[in-house]
Amino acid sequence: MTKEKMDYYKELLIKERQEIMQELTNGEETARDLFETDSSNVNDSVDDASFTVAHNILSVLNKKSQQSLLSIESALRRIEEGTFGTCVSCGNEINENRLTSIPWTTLCIDCKNEAEKRK
Ligand SMILES: [Zn+2]
Repeated sequence: MTKEKMDYYKELLIKERQEIMQELTNGEETARDLFETDSSNVNDSVDDASFTVAHNILSVLNKKSQQSLLSIESALRRIEEGTFGTCVSCGNEINENRLTSIPWTTLCIDCKNEAEKRK
């Protein structure tokens, strides 16, 4: 995958993460408190500060949103590591249409279908 594409998916993931956080905190007091107690250096980049903030916020989230945020965080880590877009099960590249609709997915469509079948 090219750097440009990685950046594109990174944008998607960061945007999604912000939406979840805003939804959860209503963009108000809770978020401000968490951000202030944690670091004055919070920005949109994927760095240690934003991971820490995310984990603080996780403690006040409901289960479903926690799952989504964790998936997004781990996808962002895979982008940093350069393993993003590769199926964790078979090692093949994940279809780009699939990544665009679910950028935090870790399985290609074949492995996903296999996993569904085994349920
Ligand atoms: Zn696969």
